[in-house]
Amino acid sequence: MPELFTVVTPQEALEKLKDNLTHRVASETVKTNLAIGRVTAGPIYSSDNLPTFPRSTMDGYAVIASDTYGSTESIPAYINLIGEIPMGQPSDLILTRGNIAKVHTGSMLPEGSDAVVMVENTQIVDAQTIEIVRPVAPGENILQVGDDIAKGQIILPEGHLLRAQDIGGLMGLGITELNVYGRPKVVIISTGDELIPPNKDLTPGKIRDINTYSLAALTLQSGAIPLTTPIIGDSFEELLDAARKSILEADMLVISAGSSVSTRDLTSAVISNLGDPGILVHGISIKPGKPTILASIEGKPVVGLPGNPVSALVIFDIFCIPSIYMLSGCSTPPDKPNVDARITHNLASIPGREDYIPVKLRTEGEILLADPIFGESNLITTVMKADGLIKIPLDKSGIYQGEIVNAKMFR
Ligand code: AMP
Ligand code: MG
Repeated sequence: MPELFTVVTPQEALEKLKDNLTHRVASETVKTNLAIGRVTAGPIYSSDNLPTFPRSTMDGYAVIASDTYGSTESIPAYINLIGEIPMGQPSDLILTRGNIAKVHTGSMLPEGSDAVVMVENTQIVDAQTIEIVRPVAPGENILQVGDDIAKGQIILPEGHLLRAQDIGGLMGLGITELNVYGRPKVVIISTGDELIPPNKDLTPGKIRDINTYSLAALTLQSGAIPLTTPIIGDSFEELLDAARKSILEADMLVISAGSSVSTRDLTSAVISNLGDPGILVHGISIKPGKPTILASIEGKPVVGLPGNPVSALVIFDIFCIPSIYMLSGCSTPPDKPNVDARITHNLASIPGREDYIPVKLRTEGEILLADPIFGESNLITTVMKADGLIKIPLDKSGIYQGEIVNAKMFR
């Protein structure tokens, strides 16, 4: 059987793929309240100051700061209360020396005031007189016009992945629509004569298709749109036909299985017939997932994944998710949640190969432990039982029990 001769490291492989991904998804205008997980297609400027009026950040009294200088518990400043500023309304009070006005968190400040004394640092003497027991400096406990965001300032740069706080901030500025990159369309094709759809009864020799669904779910989680196709048998013509159509209509193509080098493995021949530059990498020094194909057709990523459901999942995670983010205009994908934990068993590897091992986390007292999940590495249940994956780096021949490992969590 032919071998995968020109195996490259995972890092080299990813770089080659990224260097060839020139395709970008067109931008579109969407409602800001529905833009979570989308990527800004240009810088966003503030059309307003935030706040638009000077506001108190505390419950207390709007003052002229110099009136409070020198006040202490034993020698308080006695100041004249001229009124209260209601929430959500402008104030017609004008503060002059020796006067204060009652304010609430978020109230507009009266004209003339330059600070707020917290209610905790005051005592009511009578309806008109307030004792202040601690001085404030000008600007204390207030927000000036534009303190949060100044009008015309860039609030979010281009290529920014929108999070909940961004959606809130934009809405707070009255930006109810914005320009974002479109969601990439990812076609997933599962191939193999042995596969049947999950809703069909099994017959001897057949297995139900797993990869179409796990990969579509990962695609959705990464903000892209999965387009699934019917299962394709081990037929060069059928697979080529399906792949040609897909690469025209989609932004990315993923073919599951048939990615190795046996006579039944047709994926590399099919990808070679799709266009230029074609296959960039065939074979990666990684376990699971050595027989992986990375290609680019007219700047769009095309990936041939090993059919083993665990390999397909791990390789999709490492190579396809960053590609999806790049297509979406986001060049630095968010880091996965990860934790450091103590590994509970020795794990062997081979120097020159990067290994990914599913682990289950548990705590013992204050200590976080990572139990490797043993069992046939091609069984989907090994990753179903796991909380995350740990990596044995390329240069290491293994990890000793008790070493600290970093587990990247499954979402
Ligand atoms: P291959 O990469 O074609 O050599 O397939 C490797 C293994 O993965 C074989 O045992 C296949 O039956 C299995 N396999 C391939 N595609 C799928 C799929 N879509 N769902 C579940 N198992 C698969
Ligand atoms: Mg196969």
